[in-house]
Amino acid sequence: METRYIFITGGVLSSLGKGICAASLGRLLKSRGFSVTIQKLDPYINIDPGTMNPFQHGEVFVTEDGGETDLDLGHYERFIDENLSKYNNFTSGKVYKNVIDKERRGNFLGDTIQVIPHVTDEIKDCIKKTLQTKPANIIITEIGGTVGDIESLPFLEAIRQFKKDAGRENVLYIHVTYVPYLKTTGELKTKPTQHSVKELRSIGIQPDIIICRSEVPLSDDLKAKISLFCDIEQEAIVDAVDVKHLYEVPLNLQKEGLDSIAMYKLNLKYKVSDMSGWKNLIDSIKSIKESIKIGIVGKYTNLKDSYISIVEALNHGGYFYKKNIEIKWINSEELEDYEHCKKILSDVSGILVPGGFGIRGINGKINAVRFARENNCPYFGICLGMQCAVIEFARNVCGLKGANSSEFDASTDYPVIDLLPEQKKVDDKGGTMRLGSYPCTILENSAAFEAYGEKTVYERHRHRYELNNNYRKLLNEAGMVATGVFEEKDLAEIVEIKGHPWFMGVQFHPEFKSRPDRPHPLFKQFVAAALNYKKTSN
Ligand code: GLN
Repeated sequence: METRYIFITGGVLSSLGKGICAASLGRLLKSRGFSVTIQKLDPYINIDPGTMNPFQHGEVFVTEDGGETDLDLGHYERFIDENLSKYNNFTSGKVYKNVIDKERRGNFLGDTIQVIPHVTDEIKDCIKKTLQTKPANIIITEIGGTVGDIESLPFLEAIRQFKKDAGRENVLYIHVTYVPYLKTTGELKTKPTQHSVKELRSIGIQPDIIICRSEVPLSDDLKAKISLFCDIEQEAIVDAVDVKHLYEVPLNLQKEGLDSIAMYKLNLKYKVSDMSGWKNLIDSIKSIKESIKIGIVGKYTNLKDSYISIVEALNHGGYFYKKNIEIKWINSEELEDYEHCKKILSDVSGILVPGGFGIRGINGKINAVRFARENNCPYFGICLGMQCAVIEFARNVCGLKGANSSEFDASTDYPVIDLLPEQKKVDDKGGTMRLGSYPCTILENSAAFEAYGEKTVYERHRHRYELNNNYRKLLNEAGMVATGVFEEKDLAEIVEIKGHPWFMGVQFHPEFKSRPDRPHPLFKQFVAAALNYKKTSN
């Protein structure tokens, strides 16, 4: 299959939404009948983001094959509706590790190992590796960081060289920049864009298209100015003005002609676009008037990116029921006093406790579970949120005083959540959790079965600890039932509480598989339960 290569770089500042631009372009090209894959090259030295604090990096997105990857892969999957793999995300750390491993094996036959050509060759191989795992007509490669950073230089050099490998006509460079709006004078300023393009050109990359992020629309005059200074046709200056809804971005970029220009410049045979499904979704989202309030009780609530897939999956459920999801962010440390916890949770229609690590804030999460259980409030516990549900139930319903996860209390009398024997042998922290997709068998006559409508489902995991089977019978007899099981190892993957309107704890991360037009069944059911609760509690 002949492949075209699109490289996306960023200028002026970080957090410009390069990932959303890449994902949107992917969607647009897919809607024209091309097969598309997207990858991210990150300049940091960690092998992957798996060991990073969410405050540093936001969410770690888990792929089907167990890759711990950048959160932009979540955007890619949600926009292009394709499952990606660990080969869609490489970091400098991974690149250097590969090079050094090869050096130790003697693969370089006595060479002095240098950034050029050894590291840049390895980077180019990473691009090719992604295609080997899944061939595509078009691969979009997003380079993390901002042009001008020291760290990203080897990546930029590698993509500069790439046009020689692939043929200039098969390669497209897109630069995403920021055009600031000065309120005092009411003007948009193009100088930072000019400088950033100059910087890129000094490395030998002439962008073919510029996407300008801006608060207000760019006039034709301004586009003409950027066109003149940056040596790019005016039609290839694409305006990406701020939008209210994330999923509007592809349609806006299409209006600006992004996909047509990309096809034209890549000499791709013209194909008609079908974005009708996507348009219907946006129309439906825009017509939403009512809201439903969901409390997310977590530790990283100050950085919303830490829970981005969860927020998106909730939104997807909301789109289905034509409800806006209003999120009440609750720092679990604020819930440690139960009376105060009751007050804080009194105005939400559903409580979600997401995944997490470490003991800080655990008692607040356990209080949130107790509130949900005692008040028939819908509860959705994901990974750590499921483990907290088990701990709460063991303590307050089964009467196991001090029951805990051995992650938080190694000497508890009742380790209701514990390590699997094979995890006890693990010393390295990076990439050693139970990761990726596993089958889960669903018990009939359960809310989970009603949601999925299937006996076997596949969900993605990222954890070390599990529900301890020594307590399963006791929990079950008291009303907490394992309604989903990984049969091969007899591990409880889903727990529900009998008699509660909607109480669901899942050891996996369903949020990673939700799509805007296809909400994950459990998120959809959770939103429905929250709507019911709102109706009955009013
Ligand atoms: N810390 C828990 C574990 O390792 C939960 C992990 C998570 O929520 N992703 O099992």
